[in-house]
Amino acid sequence: MIAFSLPNGKSYSLAHLVLDFNGTLAVDGQLLEGVNDLLHMLSGQLRIHIITADTFGTVRSAFAVFPDVTIHVLPPGEQSAQKQRYIEETGAEQVVAIGNGCNDNLMLERAQLGIAVIQAEGAALRTLMKADLVFTDIRDALTTLLKPKRLIASLRQ
Ligand SMILES: [Mg+2]
Repeated sequence: MIAFSLPNGKSYSLAHLVLDFNGTLAVDGQLLEGVNDLLHMLSGQLRIHIITADTFGTVRSAFAVFPDVTIHVLPPGEQSAQKQRYIEETGAEQVVAIGNGCNDNLMLERAQLGIAVIQAEGAALRTLMKADLVFTDIRDALTTLLKPKRLIASLRQ
């Protein structure tokens, strides 16, 4: 659990981290360097879920040595709605979600904390507009979850 409150009284109790894979944790299907270590650190506080169309067919091998991750590969069609539903079934008020593509927009909107990342693959404007926070690099986003004072500094109004 990652718990923190903003000066305006809004409080967060986050128990799940739901992540897109390609463009978010991986580029061209390959996990970005350093991501694995950061997810290991976060797995002590958050249940980690990867939700992906798995365009390159690499997500299961990328996490073969990381059994604490729940991998959910989406069937084709209506992926925005499928991702949103996954957030709702997991318990949206306890979810921080991270993604980059257009099909992540409803997921970021629905999650208690929605984070967009840009990186090499770019991010969909629609998804950026639904995010609470935007990072240029997933490693900065994951590091910030490990340091809630940074979250408070960015989210306070
Ligand atoms: Mg993506």
